[in-house]
Formats: sequence, structure tokens, C-alpha cells
Amino acid sequence: MSEASNLSILFGAWPKGWVDESCFTHELRAVETPSEGQLLVRTLVLSVDPYMRGRMSNAKSYIPPFAIGKPIESGGIGEVLHSESPLFSAGDVVVGVLPWQEQGVTAAKSVRKVTPDAPLTAQLGVLGMPGLTAYVGLLDIGKPKAGETVFVSGAAGAVGSIVGQLAKIQGCRAVGSAGTDNKVRYLVEELGFDAAFNYKTVGDQRKKLKELCPSGIDVYFDNVGGETLEAVIWNLNDHARVPLCGMISMYNETELPPGPRNLMELVRRRARMEGFIVSDHGHRNQDFTRDVLGFLAEGRLKHSETFFDGLAQAPRALIGMLKGENVGKMLVRVASPAGS
Ligand code: NAP
Repeated sequence: MSEASNLSILFGAWPKGWVDESCFTHELRAVETPSEGQLLVRTLVLSVDPYMRGRMSNAKSYIPPFAIGKPIESGGIGEVLHSESPLFSAGDVVVGVLPWQEQGVTAAKSVRKVTPDAPLTAQLGVLGMPGLTAYVGLLDIGKPKAGETVFVSGAAGAVGSIVGQLAKIQGCRAVGSAGTDNKVRYLVEELGFDAAFNYKTVGDQRKKLKELCPSGIDVYFDNVGGETLEAVIWNLNDHARVPLCGMISMYNETELPPGPRNLMELVRRRARMEGFIVSDHGHRNQDFTRDVLGFLAEGRLKHSETFFDGLAQAPRALIGMLKGENVGKMLVRVASPAGS
């Protein structure tokens, strides 16, 4: 690759409300040279994830904001072109944090070699961070028991689609909500959810939940917050558990909406809400990978991916994911592996 021909997508401006393409700058840059402990990686696939919206804000968080004028970075898969680390060699395929560049330098400690016998792109979804989030959030925090009812919002997305299916594997009744009728059909007809509804058209979510969860909700896996959370609280059973995974309905709001107004119901119902961050649960990686590889091989767990093609499309993919254009994991195909 010649001087200044390496497509790089930089963080261009802080969004005010919804992210749009003006938040990104496309630039051709020279390929950087890795220093000790670093790798030069050719990007193959990039993941776009909701937490990246949090990195486009100066609000205090568990992960620092993107820097204006620097490449955006996200989860990705790439091929090592040059290694300044004894742990990797040229030709290794790695998964971890990559800059949004055709060829980028990353710290060797931010990546690991891919699992050789697992599908590549699945390692950013069902076998990657979103899958682990579903696994620890549902099993370790939600602690579902056979026969209980699990409700998950954002149910057709990367995390939610796995939560509902893991709930079924645990012997629970699984109910989900999503933003289109096609997604609702996908949940019931393809993933085996017991029931689902379109939160955008349903009207009264509290009433719909009462109808679809007649024995009440024992575990609510919350991906969205807002009105759905309040509607669920009215339907919780005594001793219900609510793993708070994320609140995507608020990520692009300029002012936080009030509520939920009914937290007293948690007291009455002796229910428990618990926030969690997947990066605190790395110790569960081995169990997660073993179980999920097994469920996939047995055909008990299905997963979908939605692709954008080309690095230049990565901002569109991120915006599209925040707007609900994905079924399952939203990914960007940047290049094919060498020899494919
Ligand atoms: P995803 O569900 O694959 O994609 C985001 C989805 O959010 C969209 O497809 C859209 O689907 C839905 N959405 C957008 N705006 C919404 C709104 N106002 N109300 C309801 N749904 C809305 O994303 P993901 O990666 O699986 O993440 C899901 C949630 O988990 C997010 O809240 C994320 O921040 C959180 N998360 C947390 C952790 C952690 O460690 N705690 C780790 C990973 C992810 P619809 O068409 O259904 O609207």
C-alpha cells in the first residue's frame, strides 16, 4: 500500500442527539509502523455496537470517549501483516480491538488469535462479546429456573436473540419485543420464542405483557430501558430478577426522560435490578465458549448477521444498528482473508 492510501475513518465531531455521517471523517493516511508490543493488522471484519454511542460523548463512563481526529475503534477481526510481539506472527488471524482503517496498528494485548474451529464472523457475535453478555447476564444475574417466564427487549438483536434462546434451553418460557413485524415473526417462527410483540405499534405495553406473560415475569433482561422497563415492572413476579444490560432507547436523547415512575413496585415484589458490564465477567469465557459451541453444533441455538460491505460503509452500519436496521449482529465486511 503506497503513502497516504490507507482508508481511515476518524471521529470527526461530537453528535448532538442522533449520530449522523457528519460525526465521521474519511481520510487517506500513510500506513503506520508498529512499535514494540504492537501489531500491524489488515482489517477483515468490524463490529458496530451500541456502547460505541457512549464513546461519542464526554459523559463519565466505564470506557473513555473517542478522540476527535483519531480513528474510531471497535471490535474486529484482522490478519497480522507485521508483528512486534513474540505472541503473534505474520499471517495470524486475530480478534479484538481494531482501528477503523484498512491497515491499522493495534496493541498485541488488545487482541487474541481467533478460535480456529469456529466460524469467523460469529466470533464478533454469538461467540463473542454480545454472546458472552447474553450468557452472563441471563444465567449469572437473571438466574432463570425451569418453568419461569423470561422477557427480553431488543430481542431480535445480537444480545437479545441469544438471551431468548438460552432461556428456552433453560426450560423457561421466552417472550421478546422488537421494532418491526418481521423481527417479531423471526423471533417466534425461527428462534422459537413463545411469544413476541412490536413495541412500536402495540400501544399499551403493560397490557400486552400481561396478556403474553399470564403467570407474570420472573426475569426481565433489559436492553432498552424507558417505557418498556416501566411496563415490565408492573408485571414482575415476587422475587423477580432484572439484569440491566443497556438502555438503548436513551442513547441518542439530549435530555434523560423521567422514570421509571413505579420503582416502589420493586419493593412490594421484593424484586432485584442489577446492572452489569460484560468485561467484568471474563472468567466465564471458557464455560461460555464450550456451552455455546455445543448449542450451535446441536442446532439448539441459531444466530443471524446483517452485513454492510466496505470500510467506507462502517458509519452507515453504526447508524443503521442504532436505528434498528439489523437482525442479529450488525457487521462490516472490509476485506477477505488472504487465500480465500
Ligand atoms: P442490537 O440489539 O444488535 O442492536 C441494537 C437494537 O436496538 C436495534 O436493532 C433496535 O432494534 C434496538 N433499538 C434501537 N432503538 C431502540 C429504542 N428506542 N427502543 C427499543 N429498542 C431500540 O445491539 P446489541 O449489541 O445486542 O446490544 C443490545 C443492548 O445491550 C444495548 O442496550 C447495549 O448497550 C447492551 N449491551 C450491554 C453490554 C454490557 O456489558 N452491559 C454488552 C453488550 C451490549 P429494534 O428494531 O427492535 O428497535
